[in-house]
Amino acid sequence: MMNLLNLSQLNDKAPFPWQQSQWQLLIQRKQQANLPHALLLTGKQGMGKFAFAQQLAYALLCTSPQADGQACGNCRHCHLLNAHNHPDLTIIQPEKATAMIKIEQIRTLITKMQQTSQLDGYNIVIIEPAEKLNIAAANALLKTLEEPRAKALLILVSAAPHLLPATIRSRCQWITFTHVSDDLINSWLAKYHDNKATDNLLLDIAQGAPLQALALTDPEQLKFYQNCLQQIAMLLQKQLDPLSFAAKCCEESPEKVLRLLMIMLNYAIKQAFSATLKINDPVIADLVTLLANQYQIMDLFRLLDKLMRTQMQIASANNINKQLAVESMVLSLLANRKDNE
Ligand SMILES: [Zn+2]
Repeated sequence: MMNLLNLSQLNDKAPFPWQQSQWQLLIQRKQQANLPHALLLTGKQGMGKFAFAQQLAYALLCTSPQADGQACGNCRHCHLLNAHNHPDLTIIQPEKATAMIKIEQIRTLITKMQQTSQLDGYNIVIIEPAEKLNIAAANALLKTLEEPRAKALLILVSAAPHLLPATIRSRCQWITFTHVSDDLINSWLAKYHDNKATDNLLLDIAQGAPLQALALTDPEQLKFYQNCLQQIAMLLQKQLDPLSFAAKCCEESPEKVLRLLMIMLNYAIKQAFSATLKINDPVIADLVTLLANQYQIMDLFRLLDKLMRTQMQIASANNINKQLAVESMVLSLLANRKDNE
């Protein structure tokens, strides 16, 4: 079993089993010398988009790729790539996880994209997550998209493409990674994880995103979510007061708690519309039923909306404001129940 805490080791496993059709399409277009100048890889977190982008770059820069299009790992280019030292691949990410991508970073990139490749091949830039481009950086980037060079390729990676300017979105060819079936996730996970007892919970929380499921095989992560589910249930059953819940949630990870709440609300909405909703884990199933029974459908939608706004608020807030935003969210959650009427 590999060390599951180090997901970055998985990068060289891309393209993953659920990425085969996207991979084949792009390799085919490369072989026909018909690759677009800009790709936008989209799909939710946990689909392996960034790993895919890197493997694609490797495959395009390698001089003797394998039959399936993947990089050989042995040529001069592959050696440079493995040493993270290839002059024709640039990866641009925010300097801190919460920060934006700065205009200076994009200016360097533009100079580079205007040059021909140093090693006589593709000149590739990966930007991840692309929605972290600030407006000035996005505008500067647009210029390179308007005047593409023959062998330049820009790969934007984003789980939130709606946050990108429309002018950028429309200039890229979209490559979308959608929901992966529980069966496929299970058969893939079996290589890394052998604790069948927790599989149902992983699948319900991962919601079709295999790398999320893999991250949840970490016992610490799993315990966190199990505790969190218990607290949400206590909150809804009035065994825990909202302010203590918010305080505790902000102490641990408000982002993850809100994400879990969002998953539950989404399930409750689906359950209200469809009698055949498949939930694997009994604790989650009970919680979703509790939500579906306690709320009118319109209120579930309103809460979901409020939850999304709260997520945006806390993305850039300090700890005190995070706690206030979460408190306000939890108070709305409790105020909208049917039995309050
Ligand atoms: Zn190679």
